[in-house]
Amino acid sequence: MAAQQDKSEKSREIYAKKESSSFDAHGFPYLPKRRTNSERLDRHEHDSIQKDAHLFSQIQEEEQQRLAALSGAIKTMLVNVGEDPDREGLLKTPERAAKAFMFFTKGYEEDLEGVINDAIFKEGTDEMVIVKDIEFFSMCEHHLVPIYGKVAVGYLPSGTVLGLSKIARIVEVFSRRLQIQERLTNQIANAMLDAIQPAGVGVVIEAKHMCMIMRGVQKTSTTAVTSTMLGVFREDPKTREEFLSFVKSK
Ligand SMILES: [Zn+2]
Repeated sequence: MAAQQDKSEKSREIYAKKESSSFDAHGFPYLPKRRTNSERLDRHEHDSIQKDAHLFSQIQEEEQQRLAALSGAIKTMLVNVGEDPDREGLLKTPERAAKAFMFFTKGYEEDLEGVINDAIFKEGTDEMVIVKDIEFFSMCEHHLVPIYGKVAVGYLPSGTVLGLSKIARIVEVFSRRLQIQERLTNQIANAMLDAIQPAGVGVVIEAKHMCMIMRGVQKTSTTAVTSTMLGVFREDPKTREEFLSFVKSK
């Protein structure tokens, strides 16, 4: 009980410290959340060219600060794993790894609205649409190592269809973030629901987790399968079966 109290006391202290000084351990400022593409292009708020130019330079400055802060953190990591960050092979590693990490998490800069854009079409069809074998690369939020695999998305249209390539783009938006497989599956299904309000959606993800493969149990052949079924895919066993048999067929 006492230990529990100590712990919460400590986290309150850390929180208070963070509130009063807005700098990280390396003296870099804590930056605002990464802006999404829609926020960058919000013409309603930034209606003049001058304002646009100002926003653009502000975003560029934020990106530079973010890279500098991330590079500093990676240099600290190199020292603490027992490396010499000043040896030749590692000189540019902090900056390179920082850029790579920004790419692995670029989904934070994207949102559904920006991705779907104008690819929603009125269509009378009520036949199931399935896109499968969509490859994805994500990062496990517990160990910061890759999760990768394939996604299958199916839906039953209800008046509108979504451009087929946009389904893969939706997968990209949510996989390029820190994730757990269960949430990724849910987010893709709910994004489909938000985008075109179909009668039902099914999402199945088969993935390998490097944190299971490289450490701990070292089960190299283990695949994790998750699924989310919404609407008729949840309520009607026949619809669900039809979807799943397509997913399983090679
Ligand atoms: Zn993990």
